[in-house]
Amino acid sequence: MIQNDTIVAQVTHPGKSAVGILRISGINAKEVAIEILGKTPNPRFATYTKFLNKNKEILDHGISLWFPAPFSFTGEDILELQCHGSPFIIDLLIKRILFIKNTRLAKPGEFCERAFLNGKIDLVQAEAIDDLINSETESMVKASLNSLQGNFSRDINNLVEILTQFRVDIESSIDFPEEEINFNFDDIVSNNLNQLKNQFLKIKKIISDTSIIRETKKIIIVGPPNAGKSSLLNMLSSSNRAIVTNIPGTTRDLLYEQININGFLCEIIDTAGFHNTQDEIEKIGINRAWETLKTCDHILFVIDKTINPKNQKKISNDFIKKMNFYNNSIQITFVLNKNDLLKDDFGIKKIEDCYFISISALTGQGVNILKKHLVKSEKNKVKEGLFLARRRHLHQIDLSYHEFLKANKNWLKYKNIEFLAESLSLMNKLIGEITGSFSSNDLLNRIFSTFCIGK
Ligand code: GDP
Repeated sequence: MIQNDTIVAQVTHPGKSAVGILRISGINAKEVAIEILGKTPNPRFATYTKFLNKNKEILDHGISLWFPAPFSFTGEDILELQCHGSPFIIDLLIKRILFIKNTRLAKPGEFCERAFLNGKIDLVQAEAIDDLINSETESMVKASLNSLQGNFSRDINNLVEILTQFRVDIESSIDFPEEEINFNFDDIVSNNLNQLKNQFLKIKKIISDTSIIRETKKIIIVGPPNAGKSSLLNMLSSSNRAIVTNIPGTTRDLLYEQININGFLCEIIDTAGFHNTQDEIEKIGINRAWETLKTCDHILFVIDKTINPKNQKKISNDFIKKMNFYNNSIQITFVLNKNDLLKDDFGIKKIEDCYFISISALTGQGVNILKKHLVKSEKNKVKEGLFLARRRHLHQIDLSYHEFLKANKNWLKYKNIEFLAESLSLMNKLIGEITGSFSSNDLLNRIFSTFCIGK
């Protein structure tokens, strides 16, 4: 897709630095090269040149790089100018470039957007560039690089391929009268449905085994009433966000708090205490806690350490059993609270695969150990083939899998080809939005506007 204007932006950080880099992309990039450098540099060679002003006087000396279309990041002609990193020189150069016709300043993420529109990268890869730049840990860097290399996109494209072939089979049976079809249609549909199901399950397994989510880590605090959950939320967030009383059932719904634990951005969620209650509002709160818990990265299960040790053990074992039933991939840490009332040590113990940390949410003792443990366990989630998923990707997969289950059920019940075709078309749209093979302007604007200028 050829854009009729040429964009320019500083791609290095604004402010004084040794070198400042400008990137110019579009059909007038060649004209910019001739105006500023007096010539078009050799393609893909670093050329030491003069940067000239309007009167052909030297503004600066530096390196120029010329990537003619289509062999460039955006797929358009790209000129890169590396000058001395003085904001003044950069400003003069940008002003000079903006005098050349059809040139303008780039919007945030516009280079990536052009690369996407010209088929150089898909949406997952464009997002991976943004994720790579914003990575805060080694695991995030590895995961974004994997996504950038297209590993996740390949699995999604396989799914789209199966869907497309399925749709071709279906559409041809709708278009041709029944007597012209000499195959067993029922078998074809059930084969296709099976293939789709296997690919969906494969992707879901890859996601649960090897994805890390870029967005804020979600940590949920659960446990029996009065164990000190709200006190822990307040201690972790250094606030009085949650009401603390010794009356069981004080927290009836979910409370969210954004906090930064030693550089890790987390969302902490306080919940209603898990217990059998007749109070309808509390019941709704407890159900919500269970639903939210399944979407979290880490569970802090708070136990009052002053209760009988046998009861403590029973509470933790029951919870582990219940979690194994739901989803055993979410990490659980048991927080043994109110340790200030005992003579025990504050600190961490590992029993089998579970961590038990003794703290006092009242005095703050042991809370630093808990914080370090939370950060360390997130950093340790480095696995082979890890890729970085955004909640947007996971949401699309869930929606399309849900549509698949519905389609499968309806086919077995009604054998209606039109219903099936409609569901397949919807699944195609939902999956296509992940890589951008199906995308509205609205979605693209939403994604690229979060990038920074120069990307
Ligand atoms: P939640 O129902 O689990 O949210 O528990 P709260 O945070 O509301 O605390 C229940 C009661 O236990 C309150 O009276 C708190 O002051 C008290 N409490 C919480 N944490 C501690 C602690 O570490 N030590 C002591 N001594 N009391 C605590």
